[in-house]
Amino acid sequence: MLDGGVLIGGKWQAAASGATLPVVNPSDGETFTKIARGAAEDIDRAVKAAHKAMEGAWGRMPAVERGRLLTKLGLAVAANHDELVRLEATDTGKPIRQAKADIVALARYFEFYGGAADKLHGDTIPYLDGYTVMTIREPYGVTGHIIPWNYPAQIGGRSIGGALAAGNACVVKPAEDACLSLLKLADLAMQVGFPEGALNIVPGLGEEAGAALAAHPGIDHISFTGSPEVGTLVQQAAAKHNGQVTMELGGKSPQLVFDDADQEAALPFITNAIIQNAGQTCSAGSRLLVHQSIYREFIDAVSKRFEALRVGSSDMDLDCGPLINKSQHERVGGFIQRAGKAGLQPRAAGTIAANAPKGGYFVAPTLFTDVPPNHELVTEEVFGPVLAALPFKDEDEAIRLANGTPYGLVAGVWTRDGGRQMRLARTIKAGQVFINNYGAGGGVELPFGGMKRSGFGREKGFEALYGFTTVKTIAIKHG
Ligand code: NAD
Repeated sequence: MLDGGVLIGGKWQAAASGATLPVVNPSDGETFTKIARGAAEDIDRAVKAAHKAMEGAWGRMPAVERGRLLTKLGLAVAANHDELVRLEATDTGKPIRQAKADIVALARYFEFYGGAADKLHGDTIPYLDGYTVMTIREPYGVTGHIIPWNYPAQIGGRSIGGALAAGNACVVKPAEDACLSLLKLADLAMQVGFPEGALNIVPGLGEEAGAALAAHPGIDHISFTGSPEVGTLVQQAAAKHNGQVTMELGGKSPQLVFDDADQEAALPFITNAIIQNAGQTCSAGSRLLVHQSIYREFIDAVSKRFEALRVGSSDMDLDCGPLINKSQHERVGGFIQRAGKAGLQPRAAGTIAANAPKGGYFVAPTLFTDVPPNHELVTEEVFGPVLAALPFKDEDEAIRLANGTPYGLVAGVWTRDGGRQMRLARTIKAGQVFINNYGAGGGVELPFGGMKRSGFGREKGFEALYGFTTVKTIAIKHG
């Protein structure tokens, strides 16, 4: 299974072409296993198997039974915690403790959606005399899921969990760079008794399997998490058959620190929000906006934290692991080099451990200060452990800067002033605003998604369940 299969209609099998792709460990650059190179023919068979499941056992299963299966899957994830952690850490390079947190969250998604499956109610609507009108929430049918490599388990789990709980059958195209935990998850789903075809998984390249999934007319809804550029391609492909889409795209999220902030409380959150997963997090806090009256002292404190950061392989379990691959490594290095050429010297940087494997794609976390608001470090998603800091003079300027990029995913606001907390929460354009914290510990229950170029539609919480259903109105004239 982990060495080259696709799961279609409940059976593991080789890709139709028989082709495979090498899987590289980002901690040392060595190939350690292979996955199937699924493509259009496999996607087509998976979509057909999913439709068959909707017409059969899965489509007819009562919501409470669906919920029980999801709960069982969550328990199976917990029971296989150590193996899943090992797969996720080796595949993505993330430090072991981050992989552990991700697998705990994966189990929690199935616990949450298992409990939610039979609580998805419609409404009755007061209408004309002699009528009774109701709405019911129905699954779309067959949903497609295109997953990125940065958090395969968490992002896969949240997307698949919501879609299955709502009663859809899924076809999943995980990322070619990291998907072993999701292959294992699909295997566990079969073991706990999901009917064949309810969950199908076809690893492969984006431009082959991904493009085929996005374009397939049998896909009723597609949930895409990834870059804005590929998101556009997926929307264009789905538009050809007027398919529904949810887009979870990139971010350039700001952390705003006011002069009345609890600086000690803010510091660990601000550092962690940019180094978590080596900065390869859509909601990374990659811009630090600080009130000018405390700017120097606060930057000194952030610098000290950056200088103490250490980078190494996933099993060294340090502050940061490697980036996912060579091209990301070159891309992030390019941002740092161009900043240097533009006269911006790093204010502080962490250290790559001397005993870290030589072939790993490591980048030391780097802090740039006094970055001009229009510089690419402030406006573009780097997707690496690079923090750009700049001062603001008052609340109006802070809001202007916070909203000054095409993205709108997450924001953090650090202030003790209650009025300001609410004003900023209401004026910042972001799908999530955190006051005096950042990320709220992940929050499976908390709707997550973007505004502006960060996307539309919501994952997580009950909002995701609504997003994976369509509403039918039934009007009965009974006199
Ligand atoms: P990506 O867009 O390159 O790839 C994402 C997925 O799309 C992969 O499975 C890939 O194989 C597939 N894909 C690539 N080309 C395709 C095509 N032509 N048609 C269909 N599918 C295709 O993104 P990535 O590099 O894996 O992830 C990084 C990006 O994802 C960043 O921009 C990040 O911010 C974003 N992201 C967003 C969220 C969120 O929830 N908003 C979460 C994680 C990552």
